[in-house]
Amino acid sequence: MSLLSIIVPCYNEEENIADFYHEVLKNSAFFEEKKIELEMLYIDDGSKDGTAAEVKKLCAEDKRVHLLSFSRNFGKEAAIYAGLKKAKGDYAVLMDADLQDPPALLPEMYSYIEQGYDSVATRRVTRKGEPVIRSFFARLFYRLMNRISKTEIVDGARDYRLMTRQVVDAILSMTEYNRFTKGIFGWVGFETKWIEFENVERKKGETKWSFWKLFLYSLDGITAFSTMPLAVASVMGVLFCIVAFLLIAVTIVRKLIFGDPTSGWPSLVCIISLISGVQLFCLGIVGQYLSKTYMEVKRRPVYLVKEEI
Ligand code: UDP
Ligand code: MG
Repeated sequence: MSLLSIIVPCYNEEENIADFYHEVLKNSAFFEEKKIELEMLYIDDGSKDGTAAEVKKLCAEDKRVHLLSFSRNFGKEAAIYAGLKKAKGDYAVLMDADLQDPPALLPEMYSYIEQGYDSVATRRVTRKGEPVIRSFFARLFYRLMNRISKTEIVDGARDYRLMTRQVVDAILSMTEYNRFTKGIFGWVGFETKWIEFENVERKKGETKWSFWKLFLYSLDGITAFSTMPLAVASVMGVLFCIVAFLLIAVTIVRKLIFGDPTSGWPSLVCIISLISGVQLFCLGIVGQYLSKTYMEVKRRPVYLVKEEI
């Protein structure tokens, strides 16, 4: 018998807990046939609703269900990390509680593991049912990210991924505090099979990601997996120095020929504002990296556990 750990990060998902459980168990026949035992790890990411209570109900009925409650909301990345750490399985799969990651794909995913792949990842080919602006910025983010980072980050990739113990251990060996899982998956490498599926809309409840939260998350992703912005800052500095030298030369020559060094005051104001803007922008970039380094150096735990069943 081999063991498959199903890791489910949940934040205020009380309506979805039981549905998810039953939906996964629709694959029971397949798991029995393949001699796979299940372990379901619900990671309650500091939910304020009855999520933990719902999971406890399942725990009482079924020994395969486990609950790990955080002391507060630490974010999905922390929940994924905690789940992978707790997973005892020979294989582990990450799934959203809202059934946007169709459990019906599990048999197909497992068949690729049998063929020798180390991990099976999913991506949605459409963003149907998602606000247009959100899709637009998401696409932009992936394009930018792939240009400035050596780690490949796939557009539309979900965290829904089945992996072998070897891959799980590789991910756990990355103990960084600022966790950007999409990048971590790409960084660890291994043979990955991609499966595509049509976007499924959330069953019940609402998305936990506001536009602002996603924007900050994208900044996290960029600073975690690319140092290109720092290089951009230096290049801009050099460019502006060259332009400044040219302007100095022009001014001196003009003074010698026309003898009027004070004209051009408005253009001076424009140049000063532009350059101070660029300077602040570059300082901001440095600040981003510094703040990430600061958090990293503190070595705070990624999550704190309140309860474990
Ligand atoms: N989630 C979490 N902690 C958070 C936010 C979300 O554990 O701070 C979980 C959430 O319960 C869900 C999954 O992460 O199972 C994906 O969240 P959501 O469906 O809101 O994101 P979307 O699918 O809209 O990108
Ligand atoms: Mg969702």
